[in-house]
Order: sequence, then C-alpha cells, then structure tokens
Amino acid sequence: MNCPFCNKEMELGYIQCRDGVTWTPKKQLVAALSILGKAAFPIENGAADNSRTVYAYRCKDCKKIVIDYSEDSKPLK
Ligand SMILES: [Zn+2]
Repeated sequence: MNCPFCNKEMELGYIQCRDGVTWTPKKQLVAALSILGKAAFPIENGAADNSRTVYAYRCKDCKKIVIDYSEDSKPLK
C-alpha cells in the first residue's frame, strides 16, 4: 500500500491489543474496555482468527498508520 499522504510505499506490520482492536466514537475508560459500548466496532482484516491482531501499514515519513478493513485489504505477501 502506498501512503495516501506522500504516496511512498508503506511498511506492513501489525497492531495488537489484548482486548481486541476496536474503533469507538467516544473515548472509553481503559478499565471498561472489556465491556465496550454498543457503538464499539471490532476491526478485523484477516491478520488473525480473532480481532486482537490487525494488519497495519506505517509511513515513517508522515508518521501515519493506516488500518484497511475492507474485503480486499489482505496483503499480497
Ligand atoms: Zn507518507
């Protein structure tokens, strides 16, 4: 994946979270993460059989991380 900001090749890696990688519209109390609200959206993109690990691309120059969770987001390598 190329960086959407500078268009250079991004580095593939992972973001991992013990309680699952989720996106929430509001900041959650860390102690309450295991009982996330209804609006919590678990992110999965094929990096693991659970939502604790997702593929993520990093641009060192722009200091951006991109998590693509679309159907065709699985890396080629
Ligand atoms: Zn960039």
